[in-house]
Amino acid sequence: MEAKLQELKTRLIEINDLESAGALLHWDQSTYMPPGGAAARGPQLATLAKLAHEKFTDPAIGHLLDDLQPYTMGLPYDSDEASLIRVTRQDYDKAVKVPPDFMGQIYSHTAAIYDVWTKARPANDFAIVLPYLQKTLDLSRQFANYFPGYEHIADPLIDFADSGMKASTISKLFAELREQLVPIVQSITSQPPADDSCLLQSFPETQQWSFGVNIIKKYGYDFDRGRQDKTHHPYMTKFSLGDVRITTRFNENNLGDGLFSTMHEAGHAIYEQGINMAYEGTPLAGGTSAGVHESQSRLWENVVGRSRKFWHHFYPQLQTQFPAQLGSVPLDTFYRAVNKVERSLIRTDADEVTYNLHVMMRFDFELAMLEGRLAIRDLPEAWRERFKSDIGITPPNDRNGALQDVHWFSGTIGGSFQGYTLGNILCAQFYDTALAAHPEIPAEIEMGNFTTLRTWLTEKIYQYGRKYTAPELTQRVTGGPLSIAPYIRYLKTKYGELYQL
Ligand code: ZN
Repeated sequence: MEAKLQELKTRLIEINDLESAGALLHWDQSTYMPPGGAAARGPQLATLAKLAHEKFTDPAIGHLLDDLQPYTMGLPYDSDEASLIRVTRQDYDKAVKVPPDFMGQIYSHTAAIYDVWTKARPANDFAIVLPYLQKTLDLSRQFANYFPGYEHIADPLIDFADSGMKASTISKLFAELREQLVPIVQSITSQPPADDSCLLQSFPETQQWSFGVNIIKKYGYDFDRGRQDKTHHPYMTKFSLGDVRITTRFNENNLGDGLFSTMHEAGHAIYEQGINMAYEGTPLAGGTSAGVHESQSRLWENVVGRSRKFWHHFYPQLQTQFPAQLGSVPLDTFYRAVNKVERSLIRTDADEVTYNLHVMMRFDFELAMLEGRLAIRDLPEAWRERFKSDIGITPPNDRNGALQDVHWFSGTIGGSFQGYTLGNILCAQFYDTALAAHPEIPAEIEMGNFTTLRTWLTEKIYQYGRKYTAPELTQRVTGGPLSIAPYIRYLKTKYGELYQL
């Protein structure tokens, strides 16, 4: 059995090598590649993805997993070996259901629609992406249908990102959250908006960069096992557990953009850097779900990085960095500015209160499109209507409406948005649990010290990688299932103090 387990690991690591090479090519594409490299890069990425898929769906992997099955019976559920075999089995069973030719179609269609979207968005031209988006919907439905027996057609797509979740459970959860959230949003937006003009001054990029780096180093992002570069759309990527990179972007006329984006991506990266090194190269070496991943980026960005205690410590340093811009701006004004709540058009720029309304809208549209209740050609109009009723403003154009998010133009329709709101809910639930175990955490944050919090997160969440599913992890860490109560409490406490709620 030892030999078979070793053979399985060797094969999985080879597959991971191909995937990591693809990730590196993709990172290069978005950072330093000259424009002339673009034409060849798409097919290069597709070749690597195809090879990795072929190697993973090789029947030999299935035989090894079959042979190893009896061996896992004698092992504890949470042993590294049993977990590796269990998680690989789940991935394998999903992967073999999708024919390689179909995966090829998805890859080439994705490259094509992404390219059209990069032109359609600046041109505000929904019509040119319409036939492509129709094809994305057809492919998404076909993809889901390789997993028969679902309750809702979105379920297989949701399961890839947030394993164990279904459209029905998420719809119910979102409805509960919405009921609590809408009155908070209404109460805040009926008051005079916070003055954020202190953020909208000229802030040289090099100084923004060094201030952000200083913060994420304190958070615990390890630059010996990572690096930061600039991209148009910030993200985190991993080539191995020893090389977890982040990207960021800056706006010299808005201090918040780069600063919070840096904290956000560092949060994703600290999670991955905290995974047990023994899992290197195997399917266990990753974040367990989109929701749990987002819980960590949002924890470091919002719960920590937009807290009063955090800025109590760091604001004097920021003022020293930017004396002309912030020297005479009081801490309270700055704190209100970085927590400004407003009805806004763009999801990725939305504050932590209204953000979920954007996500719920996308989620409902995904279900409606997959069910055939909403036709692609009617999406822009449906978007305007829903935006007006939910957020209270009407997008003046599709560029800031139905064309704004990259998701449907770089992957399937279905499963791509719920993780953001699950992350918001989970991050409050995890943080509450951390505070119960270590009430000293806020006082430490006020000293610019994040060791207790990061150590707790590493012990309870990060080290396990994909060993536990998100529902298992939530139960183990917090002692209960996913709950919106801590998140609502967090919002009411924080924004209740900022705005009279
Ligand atoms: Zn994120």
